[in-house]
Amino acid sequence: ATILEEYIAKHPGSAQRYAEATQIFPGGVTHDNRYAQPFPLYITHGTGPCKWDVDGHEYIDYVSGHGALILGHSHPAIAAAVSEQIYRGTHLGACTDEELRWAKAIMALMPSVERVRFHSSGTEATLMAMRLARAYTGKNKIIKLQDHFHGWHDYAMAGSDRPAPGIPQESWGSMVIVPSGDLGAVEDALNRDSDIAAIILEPTGAHYGQLPFDTPNYLKGLRDLTHQNGVVLIFDEVVTGFRASPGGAQVLYDVEPDLTTMAKIVAGALPGGAVGGKAEIVDMIAHRGDPEWDNRERVYHPGTFNGNPLSAVAGSVCLEMIASQPINQRADAMANRLKLGLNEVLGKMEVAGHAHGVASMIHLVLADCDCDRGICTMPHNEIKAAIGSPAVTALKRSMQNNGIDIMGRDSFLVSSTHTEIEIDKTLSAVEMSLAEVRA
Ligand code: PLP
Repeated sequence: ATILEEYIAKHPGSAQRYAEATQIFPGGVTHDNRYAQPFPLYITHGTGPCKWDVDGHEYIDYVSGHGALILGHSHPAIAAAVSEQIYRGTHLGACTDEELRWAKAIMALMPSVERVRFHSSGTEATLMAMRLARAYTGKNKIIKLQDHFHGWHDYAMAGSDRPAPGIPQESWGSMVIVPSGDLGAVEDALNRDSDIAAIILEPTGAHYGQLPFDTPNYLKGLRDLTHQNGVVLIFDEVVTGFRASPGGAQVLYDVEPDLTTMAKIVAGALPGGAVGGKAEIVDMIAHRGDPEWDNRERVYHPGTFNGNPLSAVAGSVCLEMIASQPINQRADAMANRLKLGLNEVLGKMEVAGHAHGVASMIHLVLADCDCDRGICTMPHNEIKAAIGSPAVTALKRSMQNNGIDIMGRDSFLVSSTHTEIEIDKTLSAVEMSLAEVRA
């Protein structure tokens, strides 16, 4: 049987549910990343590094809740904290000890965070970071790097290489798109335009390092340029926060941004986001009753679920574990074993390809690169072409047939619950899948 025939034969329960879903959801799915042909998998539950589908198959999971699950699925400490909180109230309509504990856990890990504001998602966090930067500087434009992802609000989607119906031209008009990793391009943009409020980027490269750059030099260069020009430097650490290192990419590379956006791990894999950073910038937020309310320079930010107690306890438990236990070390060590193993398998099978990545974010590219397997030096258009190839889609389907589920088409997000056993099973499965794709 072909890979596709095997996929269809193995997953009748998923096929049946997807047929129903196409009559309910646009495209049959609830997130772009879950769209798959002929149908996506329907998952019932997960524990640690594994999850199970409706047809009873087990998967070693590298989607890791879109990066949120550094502690694996349903970690007992998170499950206990959330269950307990449910009985104390899911929304107390008030200030709580839980939000204080949560913010202090963030501040303990990220020294650049002097003030915090909570949201319900990463998209909201990047929207607020941009608004704060605009209000703080009195300027309008934001530099965004090509291919960097900051959620789905109108400004975040600027620079997309496809039409974007529904987004007013004016919002994109306030965004300046520059190539990722090119300091000269940022310098030129700043020289050309005196109306730049901020630059926002993913600090390990687009899609948590799928399209990496020369990280330490680039980030330090950006820090210098933004200081010289009075521009707010925003690190979008929605994925890299508490994953690239306990203090995120900013601590790993020792470059302090003015603002940081967070989500995913920050909320212990519950819905939640935050913007944190310099007090004088985050303090631009004002409230009704506040003497600053009538000051037109101030920023408004309501939000029913800001700092909600369920996300607060899940986030606090998760971040406190990251601070006190070798969570990142374990995930990084297993990711490194995976990266070395993938490169070994590719070499042994003489398949053109390589695995690269930092910390627990590993990317598999079916094209050769002479990089050191740490920071890949391939041109971004070549990586994108390799990841977009039909062979990669076939490989993903085959890996799913063989019990491995990865994020998107190239990413392995490793948790502290993946052990040598899962990594070695993964390597055997990838070897089998590479052989099937080649056949
Ligand atoms: N920023 C980055 C770097 C992300 O990867 C994502 C989501 O994957 C977002 C922002 C948006 O976060 P959310 O999906 O919580 O809105």
